[in-house]
Formats: sequence, structure tokens, C-alpha cells
Amino acid sequence: MEKKEVQFLIKKIKNNYNEFNYDEYTVTEWFKELKDYDFNDVLQKIDEHLRSERYGNKPPRVYFLTKGLIKTKDKIKREGIKIRCSICGESVLLNDFDKHFDRCSSVKYLNDQNKKYFGKEIDKDKYMNMDDREFNYKYDKFCEYVLQNTNNKKEIECLEHYFIGR
Ligand SMILES: [Zn+2]
Repeated sequence: MEKKEVQFLIKKIKNNYNEFNYDEYTVTEWFKELKDYDFNDVLQKIDEHLRSERYGNKPPRVYFLTKGLIKTKDKIKREGIKIRCSICGESVLLNDFDKHFDRCSSVKYLNDQNKKYFGKEIDKDKYMNMDDREFNYKYDKFCEYVLQNTNNKKEIECLEHYFIGR
């Protein structure tokens, strides 16, 4: 995590424990201890600590906050690098990203067009998880419909291109 994230965590603790005092030195020390870990993992630990009946009456010690956590670089080794999809916001494994992005943008197009023509959204999860054959069939059907109903020259051109390419 970054230094400003450590500062956020410290502020959160101060917010809950008035007696918790910190200075620049604390921030530096905590950063040294926490920098190798994920912000969200440690945040979750703090929340657990706050809710704990046994320990929650005292501010957590920094060493407690990393107990049992996996360092960021080991998580990447274990799970693979993830990239955030700019359309849906989900984190997707690098290896699956192209496939995801392709489907995700098609689903977005279907959803936008469905809203435009029928005034309602589609079940995005269903379309995201559909197998390729069924999805392509439905996508083609829908594009045919749009092609017959749109007046937008650019869209007609794009769709005609799409059908020639298939
Ligand atoms: Zn996506």
C-alpha cells in the first residue's frame, strides 16, 4: 500500500480511539510494517478489531494488523495479475482480460440499445456468463434488429461491416 493509505488507516484508528496518539514517526514505522500488504486487507483487519469484544476496547497494534495476511507480491504470484475493466469496474485476470473486455463491451452495447428501443435493461450477469454460441446468436439477432430500425448512418455502416466480417 501507499503512504497516504497508511495515513488513512491511522486516522481511522484515531477516530475510534481518542487515546491513540501518533506523529510522523508512527506513520513512518507503520508504513514500514504495512507497505508490503494490501490496503483493503488491513482495513478489513481494523474493522474486525473494532468489532472484537475481546480486543476492541484498545487500539490495535500494527503487528496484529498483518497477522495471517499474505503480502501483495505473494498474492500476485498465487492469483496472477489482475486488471480493472473500465466498463464494469471488475478486476479480471490478465489472461482472461481480452475475452472479458470483448464480451463486456458487447453486453454494454446490447444493454444501451435495449434501453433505447425497449426502455429496459438486460440481465447483464446472464449475458456475461452465456456460452459463446448462444451469446453470438442473440447478439447477431439483436444487431439485425438495430440495423433495420436505426436511422443513424454511422451505426448502419458499423453494423454492415460487422455482418460482412462474420
Ligand atoms: Zn467488464
